[in-house]
Amino acid sequence: MKDKKVLLSEKEMPTAWYNILSDIGKDLPPPIHPATGQPVTLQDLLPIFPMGLIQQEVSTEKWIPIPQEVLNVYRMWRPTPLVRAYELEKYLATPARIYYKNESVSPAGSHKPNTAVAQAYYNKIEGVKRLTTETGAGQWGSALAFACNIFGLKCTIYMVKISYQQKPFRKSLMHCWGAEVHPSPTQLTNAGRKVLSQQPDSPGSLGIAISEAVEDAATHEDTKYSLGSVLNHVLLHQTIIGLETKKQLELIGETPDVLIGCVGGGSNFGGFIIPFVPDKIAGKNNIKFLAVEPTACPSLTKGLYLYDYGDTVGLTPFLKMYTLGHTFVPPKIHAGGLRYHGDAPILCYLVNKKIVDAVAYPQKAVFDAAVTFAKTEGFLPAPETAHAIKAVIDEALKCKHTKEEKCIVFNFSGHGHFDLSAYDQYFEGKLEDFEYPKEEIEKSLHQIKNLPINK
Ligand SMILES: *Cc1c(COP(=O)(O)O)cnc(C)c1O
Repeated sequence: MKDKKVLLSEKEMPTAWYNILSDIGKDLPPPIHPATGQPVTLQDLLPIFPMGLIQQEVSTEKWIPIPQEVLNVYRMWRPTPLVRAYELEKYLATPARIYYKNESVSPAGSHKPNTAVAQAYYNKIEGVKRLTTETGAGQWGSALAFACNIFGLKCTIYMVKISYQQKPFRKSLMHCWGAEVHPSPTQLTNAGRKVLSQQPDSPGSLGIAISEAVEDAATHEDTKYSLGSVLNHVLLHQTIIGLETKKQLELIGETPDVLIGCVGGGSNFGGFIIPFVPDKIAGKNNIKFLAVEPTACPSLTKGLYLYDYGDTVGLTPFLKMYTLGHTFVPPKIHAGGLRYHGDAPILCYLVNKKIVDAVAYPQKAVFDAAVTFAKTEGFLPAPETAHAIKAVIDEALKCKHTKEEKCIVFNFSGHGHFDLSAYDQYFEGKLEDFEYPKEEIEKSLHQIKNLPINK
């Protein structure tokens, strides 16, 4: 019997993160301060982030050692298995070999603790007492709650009110790890009070929750803010995924032809592919890197490569990214997550240089793929992860027609155990496909195009 899983021992776990800024840092457009029009300085960021993370944001060192305290926590679930999807291959009757890196085995059920743990640690050693953040459905909130609990930090989470009411179970998980969770908008911040005075029954939004979390951190001396995707240091921490995958593939003598992942802000996909990117730039491999997003929020496939605000309200620096415009909000019927209007600047740079390809799928096909995976390989994916699976199935079916024995590897970013209401909607036939209309995207992008920085 051939092995199903490729396992690394704890001793084989990578001990440094790989920093792609050492390869592309000089060319990556920097974040710009909206008021000055100049690149953001380290000083600008200090009220909300600790110096350790700010330095990682701009570091050009190739390898950044993972602190022992962080490795100790990673050992709870890392190294994660690389699994051969024999049953899916058989079902598709494809000559392709399909593997998945299972990041759903972490305590919070996704890749997000890889950065949450590192961020909590760097805050802790600088004497920070409390972290704030926003969360939508609660994946990131639960990861940060888990990490703060380990390092003895308080954790305040502004959770979009409609999710707080409709998806209560991740909130329960955050409570188990000791976090304080507020349905946002709240009466606790100026940003929240302002929204509530205009709209007392506001369902909240990620943009409002970010404003509340940032304001809370900026106005309290012992408190910092934490972000779960998009930024360079987040992708850096997530390279543990790709570094392990690389070792695992080498162990079994595989060289990948295609690497696939889903993209919300770009952190799990970025962390998965980045360790393979320098060789592609140097012409030493010809891997197809495929980023997968929803047609309801198609930033990489329909957005423009421009400077835009990182948040909906316009508090953050300008980031150069493929964006749909910061006022863009995906339609309510979209159940699959991955709602961010832009994407990580590192990932966008790689897409712009044509090192990474992108594709978008409508949600019904994505849920079909999720159920196919659950029926063949057993694990129920998060709807986000299912986007990657849909692309994997399409690539494997292409191999069937061309009779190519390709090696396809994807990142299984999380499990779907807290997303069962979305699966219920799917089984009840309530999910509709949605392709964001071109005119709407144009409208949302109009303001951005006319900013002086984009002229
Ligand atoms: C948050 C999340 C994503 C999307 O975020 P990225 O930063 O793009 O990785 C994807 N999958 C799961 C399971 C998530 O929780």
